[in-house]
Amino acid sequence: MGPASDPPERIHMLCDVGVDAFRINFSHGEQEQHQRRIAAIRQAEAPAGRPIPIIADLQGPKIRVGEFAGGALELRYGQTLGLEVATQASREGVIPLPHAELFEVIVPGDVLKLDDGRLQVTVVEASRNKATVKVDVGGKLTDHKGVNLPGRTLPISALTSKDRSDLAFALDAGVDYVALSFVQTPEDVEEARALIGGRAKLIVKLEKPSAIESLEKIVSLSDALMIARGDLGVELPPESVPIIQRRVVRACRTAGKPVIVATHMLESMIEAPTPTRAEASDVATAVYQGADAVMLSAESAVGRHPQTAVAIMDRIIKAVEADPEHWSQLVNTASEPRQTAADAISFSARNIARLLSCKAILAFTNTGSTALRVSRERPHCRVLSLTSNEQVARQLSLAWGVHSVITKEISNFSDMIEHAEQLAVQEGVAVKGDTVVVTAGLPFGRPGTTNMLKIIHIGEGT
Ligand code: PEP
Repeated sequence: MGPASDPPERIHMLCDVGVDAFRINFSHGEQEQHQRRIAAIRQAEAPAGRPIPIIADLQGPKIRVGEFAGGALELRYGQTLGLEVATQASREGVIPLPHAELFEVIVPGDVLKLDDGRLQVTVVEASRNKATVKVDVGGKLTDHKGVNLPGRTLPISALTSKDRSDLAFALDAGVDYVALSFVQTPEDVEEARALIGGRAKLIVKLEKPSAIESLEKIVSLSDALMIARGDLGVELPPESVPIIQRRVVRACRTAGKPVIVATHMLESMIEAPTPTRAEASDVATAVYQGADAVMLSAESAVGRHPQTAVAIMDRIIKAVEADPEHWSQLVNTASEPRQTAADAISFSARNIARLLSCKAILAFTNTGSTALRVSRERPHCRVLSLTSNEQVARQLSLAWGVHSVITKEISNFSDMIEHAEQLAVQEGVAVKGDTVVVTAGLPFGRPGTTNMLKIIHIGEGT
Protein backbone atom coordinates (compact mmCIF):
# COMPACT_ATOMS: atom_id res chain seq x y z
CA MET A 1 0.00 0.00 0.00
CA GLY A 2 1.00 3.58 -0.62
CA PRO A 3 -0.34 6.75 -2.19
CA ALA A 4 -0.85 5.01 -5.56
CA SER A 5 -3.09 2.34 -4.05
CA ASP A 6 -4.81 4.28 -1.24
CA PRO A 7 -8.06 5.54 -2.82
CA PRO A 8 -10.87 3.18 -1.71
CA GLU A 9 -12.04 2.65 -5.31
CA ARG A 10 -8.46 1.66 -6.21
CA ILE A 11 -8.41 -0.90 -3.37
CA HIS A 12 -11.61 -2.44 -4.78
CA MET A 13 -10.05 -2.61 -8.24
CA LEU A 14 -6.86 -4.16 -6.87
CA CYS A 15 -8.95 -6.88 -5.21
CA ASP A 16 -10.78 -7.45 -8.51
CA VAL A 17 -7.52 -8.02 -10.40
CA GLY A 18 -6.06 -10.48 -7.91
CA VAL A 19 -4.77 -9.04 -4.62
CA ASP A 20 -4.97 -11.66 -1.83
CA ALA A 21 -3.30 -9.65 0.96
CA PHE A 22 -2.29 -6.04 1.63
CA ARG A 23 0.96 -4.95 3.29
CA ILE A 24 1.07 -1.64 5.13
CA ASN A 25 4.67 -0.47 5.44
CA PHE A 26 5.14 1.40 8.72
CA SER A 27 8.43 2.84 7.42
CA HIS A 28 6.30 5.38 5.58
CA GLY A 29 3.35 7.47 6.76
CA GLU A 30 1.61 8.14 10.06
CA GLN A 31 -0.71 5.96 12.12
CA GLU A 32 -3.75 8.06 11.12
CA GLN A 33 -3.05 7.31 7.49
CA HIS A 34 -2.63 3.59 8.27
CA GLN A 35 -5.95 3.63 10.14
CA ARG A 36 -7.69 4.95 7.00
CA ARG A 37 -6.00 2.25 4.89
CA ILE A 38 -7.05 -0.51 7.25
CA ALA A 39 -10.68 0.73 7.25
CA ALA A 40 -10.72 0.93 3.43
CA ILE A 41 -9.35 -2.61 3.05
CA ARG A 42 -11.94 -3.99 5.48
CA GLN A 43 -14.65 -2.22 3.44
CA ALA A 44 -13.39 -3.86 0.25
CA GLU A 45 -13.54 -7.36 1.73
CA ALA A 46 -17.29 -8.00 1.42
CA PRO A 47 -17.55 -6.96 -2.24
CA ALA A 48 -14.41 -9.01 -2.99
CA GLY A 49 -16.23 -12.02 -1.50
CA ARG A 50 -13.21 -13.45 0.31
CA PRO A 51 -11.25 -12.86 3.53
CA ILE A 52 -8.34 -10.47 2.88
CA PRO A 53 -5.49 -10.29 5.39
CA ILE A 54 -3.66 -7.10 6.37
CA ILE A 55 0.06 -7.23 7.16
CA ALA A 56 1.48 -4.47 9.39
CA ASP A 57 5.15 -4.30 8.40
CA LEU A 58 7.13 -2.64 11.22
CA GLN A 59 10.09 -0.45 10.26
CA GLY A 60 12.56 -2.17 12.59
CA PRO A 61 15.97 -0.90 13.66
CA LYS A 62 17.17 0.48 10.36
CA ILE A 63 20.47 2.31 10.93
CA ARG A 64 20.46 5.74 9.27
CA VAL A 65 22.97 8.57 8.97
CA GLY A 66 22.13 11.86 10.71
CA GLU A 67 21.91 15.30 9.08
CA PHE A 68 24.47 17.26 7.11
CA ALA A 69 24.81 21.04 6.91
CA GLY A 70 23.04 21.72 3.60
CA GLY A 71 21.32 18.30 3.62
CA ALA A 72 24.05 16.31 1.85
CA LEU A 73 27.71 15.34 1.69
CA GLU A 74 29.51 14.51 -1.55
CA LEU A 75 31.65 11.37 -1.11
CA ARG A 76 34.64 11.10 -3.47
CA TYR A 77 36.45 7.86 -4.31
CA GLY A 78 39.58 7.38 -2.14
CA GLN A 79 38.69 10.23 0.24
CA THR A 80 39.10 9.76 4.02
CA LEU A 81 36.12 10.80 6.15
CA GLY A 82 35.20 10.79 9.83
CA LEU A 83 32.28 8.87 11.32
CA GLU A 84 30.96 9.94 14.73
CA VAL A 85 28.10 9.29 17.14
CA ALA A 86 25.94 12.34 16.46
CA THR A 87 22.61 13.36 14.97
CA GLN A 88 24.20 16.28 13.06
CA ALA A 89 27.59 16.56 11.38
CA SER A 90 29.90 18.62 13.63
CA ARG A 91 32.03 19.75 10.67
CA GLU A 92 32.65 19.21 6.96
CA GLY A 93 34.01 15.74 6.12
CA VAL A 94 32.17 13.90 8.91
CA ILE A 95 29.28 11.46 8.61
CA PRO A 96 27.01 11.68 11.70
CA LEU A 97 25.60 8.34 12.90
CA PRO A 98 23.17 8.48 15.84
CA HIS A 99 23.67 4.77 16.69
CA ALA A 100 26.33 4.17 19.36
CA GLU A 101 25.71 0.38 18.99
CA LEU A 102 27.37 0.40 15.59
CA PHE A 103 30.63 1.67 17.11
CA GLU A 104 30.58 -1.26 19.56
CA VAL A 105 31.14 -3.71 16.72
CA ILE A 106 32.97 -2.03 13.84
CA VAL A 107 36.64 -2.85 13.34
CA PRO A 108 39.14 -1.80 10.68
CA GLY A 109 38.40 -3.58 7.40
CA ASP A 110 34.59 -3.55 7.87
CA VAL A 111 32.61 -2.36 4.88
CA LEU A 112 29.66 0.02 5.38
CA LYS A 113 27.06 0.28 2.64
CA LEU A 114 25.14 3.53 2.45
CA ASP A 115 21.89 4.47 0.73
CA ASP A 116 20.77 0.91 -0.13
CA GLY A 117 24.28 -0.02 -1.25
CA ARG A 118 24.67 2.83 -3.74
CA LEU A 119 27.69 4.15 -1.83
CA GLN A 120 30.37 2.25 0.10
CA VAL A 121 33.10 3.04 2.62
CA THR A 122 35.67 0.85 4.43
CA VAL A 123 36.61 1.38 8.10
CA VAL A 124 40.27 2.33 8.53
CA GLU A 125 40.30 3.06 12.28
CA ALA A 126 37.60 2.68 14.92
CA SER A 127 37.04 3.57 18.59
CA ARG A 128 33.97 3.60 20.91
CA ASN A 129 32.42 6.76 19.43
CA LYS A 130 34.23 7.59 16.24
CA ALA A 131 35.90 6.04 13.24
CA THR A 132 37.78 6.89 10.10
CA VAL A 133 36.54 5.51 6.79
CA LYS A 134 37.80 5.50 3.23
CA VAL A 135 35.36 5.93 0.32
CA ASP A 136 35.23 2.92 -2.06
CA VAL A 137 32.19 4.00 -4.05
CA GLY A 138 31.41 7.70 -4.06
CA GLY A 139 28.33 9.81 -4.71
CA LYS A 140 25.98 12.17 -2.92
CA LEU A 141 24.93 11.07 0.59
CA THR A 142 21.83 12.89 1.79
CA ASP A 143 20.26 13.15 5.29
CA HIS A 144 18.79 9.99 6.93
CA LYS A 145 19.95 7.52 4.27
CA GLY A 146 20.25 3.88 5.42
CA VAL A 147 23.48 2.23 6.56
CA ASN A 148 24.20 -1.50 6.36
CA LEU A 149 27.08 -3.34 7.98
CA PRO A 150 27.00 -6.59 6.01
CA GLY A 151 27.75 -9.78 7.84
CA ARG A 152 27.77 -8.32 11.38
CA THR A 153 25.23 -8.82 14.17
CA LEU A 154 24.50 -5.52 15.92
CA PRO A 155 23.65 -5.42 19.65
CA ILE A 156 20.17 -3.98 19.05
CA SER A 157 16.63 -5.25 19.54
CA ALA A 158 14.46 -5.89 16.47
CA LEU A 159 11.88 -3.50 17.97
CA THR A 160 12.56 0.21 18.39
CA SER A 161 10.30 2.48 20.47
CA LYS A 162 8.56 3.51 17.22
CA ASP A 163 7.99 -0.18 16.43
CA ARG A 164 6.50 -0.77 19.88
CA SER A 165 4.08 2.11 19.42
CA ASP A 166 3.21 0.99 15.85
CA LEU A 167 2.76 -2.59 17.06
CA ALA A 168 0.30 -1.54 19.79
CA PHE A 169 -1.58 0.56 17.23
CA ALA A 170 -1.66 -2.24 14.62
CA LEU A 171 -2.88 -4.85 17.12
CA ASP A 172 -5.63 -2.52 18.33
CA ALA A 173 -6.60 -1.93 14.72
CA GLY A 174 -6.98 -5.72 14.34
CA VAL A 175 -4.37 -6.49 11.69
CA ASP A 176 -3.92 -10.15 10.83
CA TYR A 177 -0.13 -10.34 10.51
CA VAL A 178 2.75 -8.32 11.95
CA ALA A 179 5.97 -8.38 9.90
CA LEU A 180 9.20 -7.91 11.83
CA SER A 181 12.06 -6.17 10.00
CA PHE A 182 15.82 -6.68 10.40
CA VAL A 183 15.53 -9.77 12.57
CA GLN A 184 19.03 -10.92 13.50
CA THR A 185 18.52 -13.74 15.98
CA PRO A 186 15.87 -16.22 17.19
CA GLU A 187 15.67 -14.12 20.40
CA ASP A 188 14.39 -11.17 18.32
CA VAL A 189 11.48 -13.35 17.19
CA GLU A 190 10.76 -14.53 20.73
CA GLU A 191 10.72 -10.93 22.01
CA ALA A 192 8.18 -9.87 19.36
CA ARG A 193 6.08 -12.98 19.92
CA ALA A 194 5.79 -12.17 23.63
CA LEU A 195 4.58 -8.65 22.82
CA ILE A 196 2.07 -9.79 20.18
CA GLY A 197 0.65 -12.41 22.52
CA GLY A 198 -1.48 -14.28 19.96
CA ARG A 199 -3.32 -11.20 18.70
CA ALA A 200 -1.85 -11.57 15.19
CA LYS A 201 0.42 -13.98 13.34
CA LEU A 202 4.09 -13.13 13.07
CA ILE A 203 5.97 -12.82 9.77
CA VAL A 204 9.75 -12.69 10.00
CA LYS A 205 11.43 -10.70 7.24
CA LEU A 206 14.68 -12.33 6.22
CA GLU A 207 17.03 -9.51 5.27
CA LYS A 208 20.08 -10.02 7.51
CA PRO A 209 22.74 -12.71 6.93
CA SER A 210 22.71 -13.48 10.68
CA ALA A 211 19.03 -14.49 10.39
CA ILE A 212 19.90 -16.81 7.49
CA GLU A 213 22.56 -18.44 9.71
CA SER A 214 19.78 -19.41 12.16
CA LEU A 215 17.24 -20.12 9.43
CA GLU A 216 15.77 -23.40 10.70
CA LYS A 217 15.32 -22.07 14.25
CA ILE A 218 13.80 -18.79 13.01
CA VAL A 219 11.41 -20.66 10.69
CA SER A 220 10.31 -22.81 13.62
CA LEU A 221 9.57 -19.70 15.74
CA SER A 222 7.66 -17.80 13.00
CA ASP A 223 4.17 -18.15 11.56
CA ALA A 224 5.30 -17.04 8.09
CA LEU A 225 8.44 -15.70 6.43
CA MET A 226 9.25 -12.99 3.91
CA ILE A 227 12.35 -13.07 1.73
CA ALA A 228 12.99 -9.30 1.80
CA ARG A 229 15.32 -9.26 -1.17
CA GLY A 230 15.81 -5.48 -1.12
CA ASP A 231 17.82 -5.27 2.09
CA LEU A 232 19.10 -8.83 1.75
CA GLY A 233 20.72 -7.78 -1.54
CA VAL A 234 22.47 -4.89 0.20
CA GLU A 235 23.78 -7.08 3.01
CA LEU A 236 24.91 -9.86 0.66
CA PRO A 237 26.26 -9.97 -2.89
CA PRO A 238 23.46 -10.22 -5.49
CA GLU A 239 24.49 -13.73 -6.56
CA SER A 240 23.66 -14.99 -3.03
CA VAL A 241 20.05 -13.81 -3.16
CA PRO A 242 18.62 -16.46 -5.56
CA ILE A 243 20.40 -19.23 -3.68
CA ILE A 244 19.02 -18.01 -0.34
CA GLN A 245 15.56 -17.63 -1.90
CA ARG A 246 15.58 -21.29 -2.96
CA ARG A 247 16.83 -22.42 0.45
CA VAL A 248 14.28 -20.37 2.36
CA VAL A 249 11.34 -21.46 0.19
CA ARG A 250 12.38 -25.08 0.69
CA ALA A 251 12.76 -24.65 4.48
CA CYS A 252 9.35 -22.98 4.75
CA ARG A 253 7.67 -25.60 2.59
CA THR A 254 9.12 -28.36 4.75
CA ALA A 255 7.91 -26.62 7.91
CA GLY A 256 4.51 -25.76 6.39
CA LYS A 257 5.00 -22.03 6.99
CA PRO A 258 3.77 -19.60 4.30
CA VAL A 259 6.62 -17.83 2.50
CA ILE A 260 6.45 -14.53 0.62
CA VAL A 261 8.98 -13.61 -2.07
CA ALA A 262 9.31 -9.82 -2.04
CA THR A 263 10.90 -6.81 -3.70
CA HIS A 264 11.90 -5.76 -7.21
CA MET A 265 9.54 -8.35 -8.70
CA LEU A 266 8.12 -6.00 -11.34
CA GLU A 267 10.32 -3.01 -10.48
CA SER A 268 10.32 -1.44 -13.95
CA MET A 269 6.53 -1.15 -13.69
CA ILE A 270 6.97 1.75 -11.26
CA GLU A 271 7.19 3.68 -14.54
CA ALA A 272 6.52 1.30 -17.43
CA PRO A 273 3.13 -0.26 -18.32
CA THR A 274 4.70 -3.70 -18.93
CA PRO A 275 7.39 -5.65 -17.06
CA THR A 276 10.75 -6.70 -18.47
CA ARG A 277 11.07 -10.34 -19.56
CA ALA A 278 13.52 -10.90 -16.71
CA GLU A 279 10.96 -9.62 -14.18
CA ALA A 280 8.22 -11.89 -15.57
CA SER A 281 10.70 -14.73 -15.30
CA ASP A 282 11.55 -13.81 -11.69
CA VAL A 283 7.89 -13.95 -10.62
CA ALA A 284 7.46 -17.25 -12.48
CA THR A 285 10.54 -18.71 -10.75
CA ALA A 286 9.09 -17.94 -7.30
CA VAL A 287 5.85 -19.68 -8.31
CA TYR A 288 7.70 -22.71 -9.74
CA GLN A 289 9.61 -22.95 -6.45
CA GLY A 290 6.29 -23.21 -4.62
CA ALA A 291 6.24 -19.84 -2.82
CA ASP A 292 2.93 -19.05 -1.13
CA ALA A 293 2.88 -15.40 -2.16
CA VAL A 294 4.69 -12.91 -4.38
CA MET A 295 4.72 -9.29 -3.30
CA LEU A 296 4.74 -5.89 -4.97
CA SER A 297 6.25 -2.90 -3.14
CA ALA A 298 6.93 0.40 -4.88
CA GLU A 299 5.13 -0.86 -8.02
CA SER A 300 1.77 -0.66 -6.26
CA ALA A 301 2.67 1.83 -3.51
CA VAL A 302 4.00 4.70 -5.57
CA GLY A 303 4.08 3.36 -9.15
CA ARG A 304 2.21 4.68 -12.15
CA HIS A 305 0.37 1.42 -12.91
CA PRO A 306 -0.56 -0.32 -9.62
CA GLN A 307 -3.56 -2.13 -11.05
CA THR A 308 -1.77 -3.30 -14.18
CA ALA A 309 1.18 -4.53 -12.07
CA VAL A 310 -1.18 -6.66 -9.95
CA ALA A 311 -3.04 -7.94 -13.03
CA ILE A 312 0.20 -8.92 -14.76
CA MET A 313 1.52 -10.63 -11.65
CA ASP A 314 -1.75 -12.57 -11.44
CA ARG A 315 -1.43 -13.56 -15.11
CA ILE A 316 2.12 -14.82 -14.58
CA ILE A 317 1.03 -16.91 -11.57
CA LYS A 318 -1.87 -18.42 -13.52
CA ALA A 319 0.34 -19.13 -16.54
CA VAL A 320 2.80 -21.09 -14.38
CA GLU A 321 -0.02 -22.96 -12.66
CA ALA A 322 -1.37 -23.96 -16.08
CA ASP A 323 1.98 -25.57 -16.92
CA PRO A 324 1.94 -29.34 -16.12
CA GLU A 325 5.69 -29.12 -15.51
CA HIS A 326 4.97 -26.88 -12.50
CA TRP A 327 3.06 -29.66 -10.76
CA SER A 328 5.74 -32.26 -11.31
CA GLN A 329 8.27 -29.90 -9.69
CA LEU A 330 6.10 -29.33 -6.63
CA VAL A 331 7.33 -32.38 -4.77
CA ASN A 332 5.48 -33.28 -1.62
CA THR A 333 7.01 -33.52 1.83
CA ALA A 334 6.77 -37.29 2.42
CA SER A 335 10.52 -37.72 2.72
CA GLU A 336 10.90 -35.08 5.40
CA PRO A 337 11.94 -36.19 8.89
CA ARG A 338 9.93 -35.67 12.10
CA GLN A 339 6.53 -36.41 10.54
CA THR A 340 3.55 -36.57 12.88
CA ALA A 341 0.22 -38.41 12.60
CA ALA A 342 -1.33 -35.08 11.60
CA ASP A 343 1.23 -34.74 8.77
CA ALA A 344 0.41 -38.27 7.65
CA ILE A 345 -3.29 -37.39 7.39
CA SER A 346 -2.68 -34.33 5.21
CA PHE A 347 -0.15 -36.21 3.09
CA SER A 348 -2.75 -38.95 2.57
CA ALA A 349 -5.46 -36.38 1.78
CA ARG A 350 -3.27 -35.12 -1.06
CA ASN A 351 -2.62 -38.62 -2.42
CA ILE A 352 -6.25 -39.71 -2.13
CA ALA A 353 -7.32 -36.54 -3.93
CA ARG A 354 -4.89 -37.41 -6.71
CA LEU A 355 -5.88 -41.08 -6.97
CA LEU A 356 -9.62 -40.42 -6.95
CA SER A 357 -9.43 -37.23 -9.07
CA CYS A 358 -11.09 -35.31 -6.24
CA LYS A 359 -12.22 -31.79 -6.96
CA ALA A 360 -11.18 -30.41 -3.56
CA ILE A 361 -9.80 -31.04 -0.10
CA LEU A 362 -11.93 -29.38 2.58
CA ALA A 363 -10.05 -28.59 5.79
CA PHE A 364 -12.08 -27.71 8.88
CA THR A 365 -9.83 -25.72 11.16
CA ASN A 366 -9.85 -23.67 14.35
CA THR A 367 -6.30 -22.40 14.55
CA GLY A 368 -5.53 -22.82 10.84
CA SER A 369 -3.10 -25.70 11.35
CA THR A 370 -5.16 -28.37 9.52
CA ALA A 371 -5.49 -26.14 6.44
CA LEU A 372 -1.79 -25.18 6.55
CA ARG A 373 -0.83 -28.84 6.65
CA VAL A 374 -2.95 -29.54 3.57
CA SER A 375 -1.52 -26.51 1.77
CA ARG A 376 2.00 -27.70 2.67
CA GLU A 377 1.41 -30.83 0.56
CA ARG A 378 0.69 -28.68 -2.54
CA PRO A 379 -2.26 -30.87 -3.69
CA HIS A 380 -3.37 -30.83 -7.33
CA CYS A 381 -6.97 -29.92 -6.45
CA ARG A 382 -8.59 -26.91 -4.74
CA VAL A 383 -8.10 -26.46 -0.99
CA LEU A 384 -11.06 -25.07 0.92
CA SER A 385 -10.32 -23.98 4.48
CA LEU A 386 -13.42 -23.73 6.67
CA THR A 387 -13.33 -21.89 9.97
CA SER A 388 -15.69 -19.83 12.09
CA ASN A 389 -12.79 -17.60 13.19
CA GLU A 390 -12.66 -14.50 10.98
CA GLN A 391 -9.02 -13.70 11.71
CA VAL A 392 -7.89 -17.28 11.06
CA ALA A 393 -9.82 -17.21 7.77
CA ARG A 394 -7.99 -14.04 6.75
CA GLN A 395 -4.61 -15.39 7.81
CA LEU A 396 -5.13 -18.56 5.77
CA SER A 397 -5.70 -16.52 2.61
CA LEU A 398 -1.92 -16.01 2.50
CA ALA A 399 -1.22 -19.74 2.26
CA TRP A 400 -0.59 -21.51 -1.03
CA GLY A 401 -3.76 -22.65 -2.84
CA VAL A 402 -6.09 -21.96 0.09
CA HIS A 403 -9.57 -20.67 -0.64
CA SER A 404 -10.68 -19.46 2.76
CA VAL A 405 -14.31 -19.53 3.87
CA ILE A 406 -15.89 -18.29 7.10
CA THR A 407 -18.45 -20.82 8.35
CA LYS A 408 -20.84 -21.11 11.25
CA GLU A 409 -19.57 -22.88 14.39
CA ILE A 410 -19.48 -26.65 13.79
CA SER A 411 -20.28 -28.78 16.82
CA ASN A 412 -20.38 -32.41 15.68
CA PHE A 413 -19.28 -34.82 12.97
CA SER A 414 -22.55 -35.13 11.00
CA ASP A 415 -22.96 -31.35 11.05
CA MET A 416 -19.46 -31.09 9.56
CA ILE A 417 -20.09 -33.56 6.73
CA GLU A 418 -23.40 -31.94 5.83
CA HIS A 419 -21.78 -28.53 5.86
CA ALA A 420 -18.82 -29.72 3.78
CA GLU A 421 -21.14 -30.88 0.99
CA GLN A 422 -23.08 -27.62 0.98
CA LEU A 423 -19.98 -25.43 1.00
CA ALA A 424 -18.15 -27.36 -1.70
CA VAL A 425 -21.10 -26.71 -4.02
CA GLN A 426 -21.74 -23.16 -2.83
CA GLU A 427 -18.09 -22.15 -3.30
CA GLY A 428 -18.08 -23.65 -6.79
CA VAL A 429 -15.37 -26.25 -6.20
CA ALA A 430 -17.58 -29.34 -6.73
CA VAL A 431 -20.95 -30.40 -8.16
CA LYS A 432 -23.27 -33.38 -7.52
CA GLY A 433 -21.42 -36.62 -8.25
CA ASP A 434 -17.94 -35.18 -7.56
CA THR A 435 -15.67 -36.64 -4.91
CA VAL A 436 -13.99 -34.48 -2.25
CA VAL A 437 -11.80 -35.22 0.77
CA VAL A 438 -12.70 -33.78 4.16
CA THR A 439 -10.11 -33.48 6.92
CA ALA A 440 -10.28 -32.03 10.43
CA GLY A 441 -9.13 -32.40 14.01
CA LEU A 442 -11.53 -34.08 16.43
CA PRO A 443 -12.80 -33.29 19.00
CA PHE A 444 -13.70 -29.86 17.62
CA GLY A 445 -12.16 -26.90 19.34
CA ARG A 446 -8.92 -28.58 20.34
CA PRO A 447 -6.22 -26.70 18.42
CA GLY A 448 -3.51 -28.41 16.41
CA THR A 449 -4.98 -31.93 16.05
CA THR A 450 -5.53 -33.18 12.52
CA ASN A 451 -6.74 -36.75 12.92
CA MET A 452 -9.75 -37.26 10.65
CA LEU A 453 -10.07 -37.90 6.93
CA LYS A 454 -13.27 -38.78 5.04
CA ILE A 455 -14.04 -39.23 1.36
CA ILE A 456 -17.41 -37.78 0.33
CA HIS A 457 -19.37 -38.23 -2.87
CA ILE A 458 -21.31 -35.02 -3.24
CA GLY A 459 -25.09 -35.50 -3.21
CA GLU A 460 -24.92 -39.19 -2.33
CA GLY A 461 -25.05 -38.80 1.43
CA THR A 462 -21.79 -40.72 1.98
C1 PEP B 1 12.96 -5.54 1.49
O1 PEP B 1 13.96 -5.01 1.97
O2 PEP B 1 13.00 -6.29 0.50
C2 PEP B 1 11.64 -5.31 2.12
C3 PEP B 1 10.57 -6.00 1.77
O3 PEP B 1 11.59 -4.42 3.13
P1 PEP B 1 11.02 -2.92 3.04
O4 PEP B 1 10.12 -2.85 1.85
O5 PEP B 1 10.32 -2.72 4.32
O6 PEP B 1 12.23 -2.09 2.90
